[in-house]
Amino acid sequence: MRLENIFGGIVMGKLVKNITSILEDFSKWYTDVVIKAELIDYSTVRGCNILRPYGYAIWENIVSILDKEFKNLGVENVSMPIFIPESLLQKEKEHIKGFAPEVAWVTLGGNEELSEKLCVRPTSEVLFCSHFQKIVNSWRDLPKLYNQWCSVVRWEKTSRPFLRSVEFHWQEGHTIHENSQEAKNFTLKILNLYKDFFENILCIPVILGQKTESEKFAGAEITYTVECIMKDGKALQSATSHYFGNNFSKAFDIKFSNKNNKEELVHQTSWGLSTRVIASIIMTHGDDDGLVLPPDIAPIQVIIIPINLKNKLVIEKSHEIFNIIKNKLKLRCIIDESEQTPGWKFANYEMKGVPIRIEIGPRDIENNQCVLVRRDNHEKIICKFENLSENIEKLILDIKNNMYKTAQKNQENKTKIFESEKDFENFKGFIKMPFCEDSECEDNIKQKYAFTTRCIPFDEKIENNYICPICGKKAKNYVYFAKAY
Ligand SMILES: [Zn+2]
Repeated sequence: MRLENIFGGIVMGKLVKNITSILEDFSKWYTDVVIKAELIDYSTVRGCNILRPYGYAIWENIVSILDKEFKNLGVENVSMPIFIPESLLQKEKEHIKGFAPEVAWVTLGGNEELSEKLCVRPTSEVLFCSHFQKIVNSWRDLPKLYNQWCSVVRWEKTSRPFLRSVEFHWQEGHTIHENSQEAKNFTLKILNLYKDFFENILCIPVILGQKTESEKFAGAEITYTVECIMKDGKALQSATSHYFGNNFSKAFDIKFSNKNNKEELVHQTSWGLSTRVIASIIMTHGDDDGLVLPPDIAPIQVIIIPINLKNKLVIEKSHEIFNIIKNKLKLRCIIDESEQTPGWKFANYEMKGVPIRIEIGPRDIENNQCVLVRRDNHEKIICKFENLSENIEKLILDIKNNMYKTAQKNQENKTKIFESEKDFENFKGFIKMPFCEDSECEDNIKQKYAFTTRCIPFDEKIENNYICPICGKKAKNYVYFAKAY
């Protein structure tokens, strides 16, 4: 065996060299990570990607945590058909207007032309509505709190893994309520659930707020959004929660008899989070060595790498440690006993963003210790075997805290209060500006600078005399602007 293979430095260099560095080309770095960490492969259909086992495992962890949270709120899962008849999709006018350009149609069944063409669901509002219309009669039937985990299709012209693809996985929640207050409260409850999920589980700080008229969901009265800032200063809309009022229930005639036996329309919400969230994770935490995964959703939380596979004591100790981590700490852990060099393995699991690496060699056994390496800051910690459980549990918390703080610092550095229109030319990040909320003014900024409104933040009231610095009209609110994915 050659020296460079034993120590791995050169082999590691080779593997890592294949990722473009963040500073050199962020967009290429992103694609490199997605492919090299084996999250996605491209399929033969343009814009439709294959989620590979490692990528799918991340999604499964996200699903299992969120699904529990939704159920805690009383939400029930259902499964709706994949097809929507054309006539049904056209029932709510704003909705069809919003989605028509990116709908895929089925016109043949076998060899026969269909009497009515079917669209492949781009989202399922209308399916839920026509179902609600059938099953709701009285106030006793309300609320209905439904969700489905599924994939949807939007015929996008350009595509990028996790960010924009023709088919993608998501959850879509649809609820109906007796009155507007209850529906509005539920819309916000979900928004806050998303916020907690981003901050506590994904270690991603967020900005919450309401979308402007022109950015809101097709058919919604109010759209709330979870906005994140990526390492390159672009914003990523990472989840949304919509209040529909009666817009859909009017179109679909979803009525119930209230406690006074009078007929009323239901009040409705919908909310969703997709595999886009994985893009958010990659571009918030990743570095030049690859992915950095938040421990709670990492498919492998601890990787054990025995240094010297021929040493019986090393292998025995590795298995002993594995048992403690898996059975006592209940963490997702594996031992890599493959024939690759340690250096190759180090680089591989760094690429995959595994939060903690444990290295054990013959000398470590003599000293009754192993080496713990953190993925988030590459820090090495010598750990006595008797302190292993305690140290790992503490390390997981430290890693989460540090990842959140680092991301928060990035958010702070990439957020500024508007000073002059030049900011739109020079600044990469969120620009907070007193804004008129006039759609013409909004469009003007979009055309000129490619900055779009991200949200009207909560609890940031502006002075009465503030004006919009772009058009000079009276400003209504502070609004966050950014270039967005
Ligand atoms: Zn203006």
